[in-house]
Amino acid sequence: ELGAHTLGLSGGTALLSFCYHPIPIVFSKAKDVHVWDPEGRKYLDFLSAYSAVNQGHCHPRILSVLVQQCQQMTLSSRAFYNDKFPIFAKHVTKLFGYEMVLPMNTGAEAVETALKLARKWGYERKGIPTNEGVIISCCGCFHGRTLGAISMSCDNEATRGFGPFLPGQLKVEFGNADALKTIFEVHGNKVAGFLFEPIQGEAGVILPPKGYLQSVRELCSKYNVLMIADEVQTGIARTGKLLACEWEGVRPDVVILGKALGGGVLPVSAVLADKDVMLCIRPGEHGSTFGGNPLASAVAIAALEVVVEEKLAERAVEMGQVFRNQFLDVQNAYPDIIREVRGQGLLNAVELNAKGLSSVSAFDICQQLKERGILAKPTHDTIIRFSPPLTIRLEELSEAAKAFKEVLEHDLP
Ligand code: PMP
Repeated sequence: ELGAHTLGLSGGTALLSFCYHPIPIVFSKAKDVHVWDPEGRKYLDFLSAYSAVNQGHCHPRILSVLVQQCQQMTLSSRAFYNDKFPIFAKHVTKLFGYEMVLPMNTGAEAVETALKLARKWGYERKGIPTNEGVIISCCGCFHGRTLGAISMSCDNEATRGFGPFLPGQLKVEFGNADALKTIFEVHGNKVAGFLFEPIQGEAGVILPPKGYLQSVRELCSKYNVLMIADEVQTGIARTGKLLACEWEGVRPDVVILGKALGGGVLPVSAVLADKDVMLCIRPGEHGSTFGGNPLASAVAIAALEVVVEEKLAERAVEMGQVFRNQFLDVQNAYPDIIREVRGQGLLNAVELNAKGLSSVSAFDICQQLKERGILAKPTHDTIIRFSPPLTIRLEELSEAAKAFKEVLEHDLP
């Protein structure tokens, strides 16, 4: 029985499960777009570990590099050089078009890195007096669970009881370029960075109005503020481009990568920037024991190669369109229940109409979807995010739309 299984693992696991209110299923095997529970039941994964498995679970090429590198060497620490990091650095900077990369491990750590970088840049290049630099972030944002990252957040659940937070922090409405301009006008000479997600993932796949990213670029250039794109969830082809900012032809000053950079195999994150910005941090001022380790570097190279060679960005565009068309059909059949189908590439959400649902929540629907072999996770009471591996095929998308329709038809009170 699942409850007993979860609780039986250890007190710590039970607590963790509680913290994250997961859908009650235990994964014991995974391959490409599928996962299996311990009883051997097969499911389609429509979360891909919050977009960390863009390449599909246990991709053979990534696994083979992992095993090979494990047999060679796994860790040098940053006290010494290793032979794999320079190859990764060359690869990632060339692919994304930046001069330098600073390697970290998790997304939140890379966000912290970018915040430190922005403050240091503000101090050194913009002449902001020490301790006076301001970072602006967006309401609805999610940048991770560390203290710096939650200091950027307006979300009560993420922040309640964890204060005091980072000083030098201002918040602005996401998608509102005029509001950003007003803040820049008032505080511009103290603002070091504007941190944002091109599409807000955890907020429920919120797309900004068209032209927003371009306006942000213009404003950041005009007021000499670092434009810092957190592409941890939207990057690595998830939205149909290597970076979501490419949809508006915009080049941020700093890009944060994570999740799928490790191919769903290892935690690998990175901050990209040009020399003028990156060199504000000098040796001894920042680092991580595991950042840039040879195993992570080798895996990340393979993870990026798979994305490019398997044309996963193009697939995300094509399959994303199919997904939205299929779910729009479901919406047309159930307009009372589905309020909106939205997304870009394979980062999509179905928003439910709270009124039409009576007491049923997105969580209940996800539980029922699970019974029908589809795994998705709500971001809110009324929003279900769908972010499958980018290797997903048309038939599998149809399976999900069919299951969703069946849940609405048969499983709701
Ligand atoms: N930034 C964004 C946009 C994210 O979506 C996430 C994770 N959901 C993070 C940062 C944090 O990444 P991690 O969980 O690896 O720390």
